[in-house]
Amino acid sequence: MEITLVQGDITEQRVDAVVNAANSSLLGGGGVDGAIHRRGGPEILAECRALRADRYAGGLPAGQAVATTAGRLPARWVIHTVGPVYAKSEDRSHLLTSCYAESLKVADSLAARVVAFPAVSAGVYGWPMDDAARIALATVRAAGTRVTEARFVLFGAEAYRVFSDVLARLD
Ligand code: ADP
Repeated sequence: MEITLVQGDITEQRVDAVVNAANSSLLGGGGVDGAIHRRGGPEILAECRALRADRYAGGLPAGQAVATTAGRLPARWVIHTVGPVYAKSEDRSHLLTSCYAESLKVADSLAARVVAFPAVSAGVYGWPMDDAARIALATVRAAGTRVTEARFVLFGAEAYRVFSDVLARLD
């Protein structure tokens, strides 16, 4: 599998699936989540509401992932995953690892081959970017998956630089 990095907006990616850094309500929020729902339109939210009424009445737990279609986005699917909120007092990195591993499992179940990821938990949820990048890149690199390209779409030059540095050290 190829890991690629681009600086840009995940909602513009022509890929099979984009991963959303959702919150457990699945009912929208700020950051990537807000951008995906704004650009994707109300169909995505309608599917999220149906998931809440059915499989995830208590919300989607941190570390898990679930797919909807992608409304008006150029992508075909949105894979919603809930990152952990960063905490200095507790190591929650297993949950962030799980976000990437579970998102790739969902991608495989959809036969998605090219998947775009944001830096899950590295915005409002406060995860330090370099550690978020290490976990993201190492997990995707180690995953057994039929995804052929994992594209990290980094919002801003600084996030792109951090991911580039971490990826270079991973090789
Ligand atoms: P979380 O709540 O999991 O921290 P955020 O959406 O707040 O999620 O932030 C995750 C990362 O996504 C941050 O680095 C943020 O700058 C970035 N981001 C925000 N909007 C976009 C976008 N449209 N495309 C790609 N990345 C984005």
